[in-house]
Amino acid sequence: MQPLIKQIRDLEEISAQLEIDIVHRKELLSSLGEYTNQFIESLPTALSFIDKDVNKGNLKISNQPGNIAEILKVFNQEVAESGIKAASGGHVGYIPGGGIYAAALGDFLAAVSNEYAGVAYASPGAVAIENEVLNWLKEVFSFPKSAVGNLASGGSVSNLIALTAARDKFGVKNEKVTKSVIYLSTQAHHCIQKSLRIIGLEDVIIRYVDLDADFKINPQDLEFKIQADRAAGLHPFLVIASAGTTDVGAIDPLDEMAAIAKTNNLWFHVDAAYGGFFVLTSKKELFNGIEKADSLVVDPHKGMFLPYGIGAVLIKDANAVLHANRYAANYMQDAVLEDLAIDPANVSPELTKHFRGLRFWLPLRLHGIEPFVACLEEKLLLTQYFREKLVELGFEVGPVPDLSVSYFWYPAESKTNDFNKQLMQHIHEDGSVFLSSTLLKDKFVIRMAILSFRTKLATINRAIEMIKRCLEKTKEQMAG
Ligand SMILES: *Cc1c(COP(=O)(O)O)cnc(C)c1O
Repeated sequence: MQPLIKQIRDLEEISAQLEIDIVHRKELLSSLGEYTNQFIESLPTALSFIDKDVNKGNLKISNQPGNIAEILKVFNQEVAESGIKAASGGHVGYIPGGGIYAAALGDFLAAVSNEYAGVAYASPGAVAIENEVLNWLKEVFSFPKSAVGNLASGGSVSNLIALTAARDKFGVKNEKVTKSVIYLSTQAHHCIQKSLRIIGLEDVIIRYVDLDADFKINPQDLEFKIQADRAAGLHPFLVIASAGTTDVGAIDPLDEMAAIAKTNNLWFHVDAAYGGFFVLTSKKELFNGIEKADSLVVDPHKGMFLPYGIGAVLIKDANAVLHANRYAANYMQDAVLEDLAIDPANVSPELTKHFRGLRFWLPLRLHGIEPFVACLEEKLLLTQYFREKLVELGFEVGPVPDLSVSYFWYPAESKTNDFNKQLMQHIHEDGSVFLSSTLLKDKFVIRMAILSFRTKLATINRAIEMIKRCLEKTKEQMAG
């Protein structure tokens, strides 16, 4: 044999291991299926938080081929059994993610078919699914069909895409940066600040608008600050609202803010990463005005219960978003289309991207929309129930929340902050249900954020039992 052919044949023998044959595929899938089934069955009784160090030695990569049973064992030990159990309904701290099974099937299918979802020319079907999902979102939020959108990795990158479009619409660059003004709430998510740094707007002027007692933007103050900045010769260009803040779940007065932005000719951005999908529930009217946003961000890995790794952005001005993201390289010449915004790659910093649409579209096709809406509505009622039970235990609770984030603290005479910090620590050590904490005007409070599709009445009862236990411990300790 010629040496070249022989060399190829030799390599082929080794590289062929990457194409697993059908017998082994069935075995692997069966092992994985068994493990994931057990994992899901164990969730109702498993701890929601395990404070444990990872044995990194167990995760070491080497040239030694392993077997799936051993790999799954390591995964279980080092990953599934450490930290916050995100798949558990007992995760009611921070903003929980989802992880519905149907979405995992979508991911599996996306990975096996490995469709290229960046450009319609390469995979018209995959791109059509991405756009169908975006079209559905436009309907949900009453956005015009002409709006463009993108499925990104999460709320952070979605916000980045929207803020970049606002920047380019108003040509905020060079010496204009330090004279341009953005209006923001101190309760806005920190990814906004991160985005501003990344997109070269670190030196922009940020005006923190006054908040009311419920941590919502005061529209009079917004109007006042814009006028003052105009009078001072500055360049206001962007108003940012939250529809569901991370700390307390507050929805800013969207309709009034939209009107102010419009009369002043400013870009109106709404970050609804956490709260957005509650527009499908009885809380709909709280979102009035969201349809007037120039750009909108929602996180399907929060409110649609999908696994981590999917955010969505909708933007009305297609040219504004194409400005930064559309770049025609020579090697892309076969991919040029008339309708540029159809290609996800033109609306995102990503060229090659995960086929995210499938993990969203497949569950909607499989379940329909109603179970998702029922699940959101259920979370609202569970929040109410949790608060009522806490009051029965002697806790003080924050104001009636707009959505499913709330907070509480135990009124311990002089040392309230110390008491609640101690209580929080006991709750984390217990781990039965995971809660988080925050500081609100220097007050240490314990936060609940109910959004996992697996959080049920039984979960809240479990949380109450745990809190009772931890409260007793804390009382004894603080008395002693
Ligand atoms: C979660 C969240 C973000 C950040 O989204 P990621 O998906 O974590 O990147 C931004 N804004 C709000 C209001 C959020 O709740």
